[in-house]
Amino acid sequence: MSSLLSNRDQWSHSSSMSEPPTVSFYTYCYAMTKSCTLCSKPRDVLVRCQIDESQKWHFVCPGACWKSVSGGVEDAKGMQDEYPYYRYGGMVSC
Ligand SMILES: [Zn+2]
Repeated sequence: MSSLLSNRDQWSHSSSMSEPPTVSFYTYCYAMTKSCTLCSKPRDVLVRCQIDESQKWHFVCPGACWKSVSGGVEDAKGMQDEYPYYRYGGMVSC
């Protein structure tokens, strides 16, 4: 963590660098901990899943938030009526 921060300082202080960091580079370094897309709380581990008709991948807390979109069943088996858009995409950690 601290080495990343000092790297960031070096980047910002050396304007002669041929390849300055891009916004996504910064975002990547900052996103050591992802946030739940439902409650916005930062988490070390999140469940990647689709939860609505947009078929966008969301990252939700493995606890309450995930249960609220999946019924607490990994692949929502037998829950199609209740969670028609739910699709499990695995656990992700940072
Ligand atoms: Zn959450």
